[in-house]
Amino acid sequence: MTRVTPVPKSGDSTPGSPADIQMPIPLDPRRKPTAVRVHIKTGAGVDITWADGHASHYAFAYLREECPCATCNDERGKKEAFSAAAPGSGSFPPLPMFKPKPSAEAATVVGNYAIQISFTDGHATGIYSYDHLRTICPCAECAKSFRTAAP
Ligand SMILES: [Zn+2]
Ligand SMILES: [Zn+2]
Repeated sequence: MTRVTPVPKSGDSTPGSPADIQMPIPLDPRRKPTAVRVHIKTGAGVDITWADGHASHYAFAYLREECPCATCNDERGKKEAFSAAAPGSGSFPPLPMFKPKPSAEAATVVGNYAIQISFTDGHATGIYSYDHLRTICPCAECAKSFRTAAP
């Protein structure tokens, strides 16, 4: 039996030099933002450019509707149950006209994975991870890629 011993290269005898260690890259480039702009003053919404080159635009009202916090998840579930209980009856319009469109008062970056938005209706518990934001990108392309997955 012959044992093969690695021959150290001249001038570099450190075993397991740092160059050999590969950093894990867990992030899908489609869910990694390269630029995040939150337009609080103009109320224009949020613009995100992703590592795969895709650009997303989110209106604040849309983000408010898609708020991922537990309370809003709960409310959305109730609404769905309600419209399922009375399909097309038309007696109760689901969207009251007097409801003002929420905008944003402030936005905070949470670590390097999310943004937290405070809305003008006082709601501020929604933390939007970039992962979630890419999933809810309102464009048709992302709807196809991220929101039509078979169960
Ligand atoms: Zn919420
Ligand atoms: Zn998109």
